[in-house]
Amino acid sequence: MEILETIYDEIIGFLGIAQAWEILQSGDFSAFRTYDGIVALIYPLIPFLVLLELTMGLLYKKPQTKVYKVNFLIYIFNRFVGRFISIAMITWIIGLLQPIAPFQTSLTWYWFIYGYIVWEFGHFLYHYWGHKVRLFWCLHSTHHAPEDMNLSVTYAHFFLEGPYADTIRTTVCILLGVQPELLFLIMFIDGTWGAFIHVGENLIKDARFGIVGKYILTPSHHRVHHARNPLYMDTNFCNLLNIWDRVFGTYQEEQKEIKIEYGITRQMDSGNFLDVYFGEIVALAKDVVKAPGIVNKIKYIFMPPGWSHLGKHETAKLVREQYFKEMDGKAKVVKPT
Ligand SMILES: [Zn+2]
Ligand SMILES: [Zn+2]
Repeated sequence: MEILETIYDEIIGFLGIAQAWEILQSGDFSAFRTYDGIVALIYPLIPFLVLLELTMGLLYKKPQTKVYKVNFLIYIFNRFVGRFISIAMITWIIGLLQPIAPFQTSLTWYWFIYGYIVWEFGHFLYHYWGHKVRLFWCLHSTHHAPEDMNLSVTYAHFFLEGPYADTIRTTVCILLGVQPELLFLIMFIDGTWGAFIHVGENLIKDARFGIVGKYILTPSHHRVHHARNPLYMDTNFCNLLNIWDRVFGTYQEEQKEIKIEYGITRQMDSGNFLDVYFGEIVALAKDVVKAPGIVNKIKYIFMPPGWSHLGKHETAKLVREQYFKEMDGKAKVVKPT
């Protein structure tokens, strides 16, 4: 019966209801007014929405089976490998870098805003390099493989991506004085919002959220980020505040006349777990092996995806520039400002 117990524990773990369940059983409902209590209530929101979205998909007969199947396998695989690596990295970085930070924030509203802007900067860096450095793209591409959008995409990550992302984000935050308590609070909010922006059309059709979308990164912005259309490629790297996309010129709104095509540009089988998880690593290894000379081999590892030693580059930047050239004067497409 051990197997049943394990499955039960895994389901409770996935739903994130263990803490709330404990509070309910203890009968001390006032605990829901504490920070831990609030977290216990917010945490199950995303898993609940995932199930709701899946149900709506079945009702609308748009089940997106391929995406759910592969993302479920990724979730299971990641449960077995590397789930503690991120936590270990974060603890190690805090211990190493906190003593050399020039100052420390406290838990006030204005330091919260400061911390969030700093965190978004760290997030922008990790995410931008995840798209622009081929080695890091190997870690990030699993997240971009799904050819439909729904909340299960939130679980589609290569197991080393978390440690890579958290190393950069934590380093930036700690060096700029964000205290660990504030960092964990921001991580929690960011993780919840970062999951929600993957909500699909089965749950929310138009996710631009009107005026709110001017200030906050909406699911619509993130749908654009997951698109492989030339106009949309490599834009909207932020997570909740899109200030850094505006600063660095990577901000792009969803254009009604350009329907989003989800996925990556490499020919691949998005229903095949091995291709989704290891496909980019295999492709990079092949390019490195066939590249002449050590310099070209190293360049394949660190140049953007699409770089070629033959000079026939197909990077997102070039594809996008070409698109603008072709469209100039022809279409109503507005260049991002
Ligand atoms: Zn991305
Ligand atoms: Zn995403």
